[in-house]
Amino acid sequence: MAGSRKRLALHWWILIAMVAGVLGGLLIVGQWGSDGAEFVATWIKPIGTIFLNLLRMIAVPLVLFSLVAGVASLNDTSKLSRIGGKTIGLYLGTTAIAITIGLLVVNIIQPGSNLSAEAKESLLSGLTEKFGDEASKRVTDMQSVDIGQQIVDIVPKNPFAALAETEMLQIVFFALLLGIGLTRLKEKGKHVTAVFSTLSDAVIEMVHLIMKIAPLGVFALLCSVVAQFGEDSKQLGELLTALLSYMGTVIAGLLLHLFLVYALLLRFVAKVPFRRFMKALAPAQLLAFSSSSSAATLPLTIDRVEQHVGVEEEVSSFVLPLGATINMDGTGLYQGVAAVFIATVCNIDLTFGDQLTIVLTASLASIGTAAVPGVGLIMLTIVLVQINVPPTAIALILGVDRPLDMLRTVLNVTGDATVATTVAATENSLDRSVLEGSSPPTPPADSAA
Ligand code: ASP
Repeated sequence: MAGSRKRLALHWWILIAMVAGVLGGLLIVGQWGSDGAEFVATWIKPIGTIFLNLLRMIAVPLVLFSLVAGVASLNDTSKLSRIGGKTIGLYLGTTAIAITIGLLVVNIIQPGSNLSAEAKESLLSGLTEKFGDEASKRVTDMQSVDIGQQIVDIVPKNPFAALAETEMLQIVFFALLLGIGLTRLKEKGKHVTAVFSTLSDAVIEMVHLIMKIAPLGVFALLCSVVAQFGEDSKQLGELLTALLSYMGTVIAGLLLHLFLVYALLLRFVAKVPFRRFMKALAPAQLLAFSSSSSAATLPLTIDRVEQHVGVEEEVSSFVLPLGATINMDGTGLYQGVAAVFIATVCNIDLTFGDQLTIVLTASLASIGTAAVPGVGLIMLTIVLVQINVPPTAIALILGVDRPLDMLRTVLNVTGDATVATTVAATENSLDRSVLEGSSPPTPPADSAA
């Protein structure tokens, strides 16, 4: 508009880039088929990878610096244990509710149940033929995951190795202790605390810089996902329609969880306006959708939650990295729906006890899921084994996993931000003026209106 200096907010740029990416991917593959898909993989995908790597590059320093600074500024370690207790309680509680919602929705909609015996058979054999090898490979990958060992591994033998290997829980553990150590030094620790705090601010500025190329990165990510999915779904052919009700069930569950659990928590416990919260978080949600990775989204989640929702660093620096690693409501919900759908197609009746087993094992499986694309599907095999469904039956849903992964990752990230905001609100660590006074979220740093 002439004369108006108001710039389009960041989330609009990202959204436009997403639409352009989807259209670009469809167009290229539509016009040039597999040659087009190859072109996208060679020339466009690397731009998305560079963008994600930039974010991954700063995730570890950001968590280390901001958590040490956050804890050291607390002065009172009893507040820390209260924050820890509330966070873990909310994470476990919301995940169990998410899986229960998933089970309710799948039992009501019952995707796959009205397929005839022959249709089930052809779905099973058709998809096993197409994706069986891939499924067995993923089941084999799964053998190496041991939840008990993961708990032991929270304590790093060498914190520098943990930093080098991006072992997020180990980094959180070490940073917490270092922060507590600095607090105990009182005056003597103040200088070093100030250094960590400055470094943390500097890394947040790096997030702002990196987000300047977010539209380009997101365009590249979506263009390559669509090109790849376009190629893969050709293999699915008409079986895709049979899978649509399963996909619709997962989506219904994710929406219910968002509007029931998160909206209510924010409204009644945190007393925060839900729509403004969603607007403030939008860029992180769009990035979660484009990247299918809560870990890659983490730096932006931290930035949005601190600077646009108003959660103080002492809470966000602990709650968000922990959440990105262990709190996956979207993944748990999806695992519940997927387990029941697969059992239905395999003609395996599930008892009430089986459904309880799903709640328990899907909670554990979602905690153990790494925050990168597609791992929720691999961890689903833990759930399937417990209810006596052959794990290789994940072949049934493998072909449509990517779009669902994108959506469940959005819920995962939204869940982390919701819990961070709720904990902050109850701990007097939420600057309400940020959200209430704020106009729509604006691009960070110098482009902010
Ligand atoms: N992609 C998900 C995440 O990063 C994990 C999963 O469900 O596969 O949050």
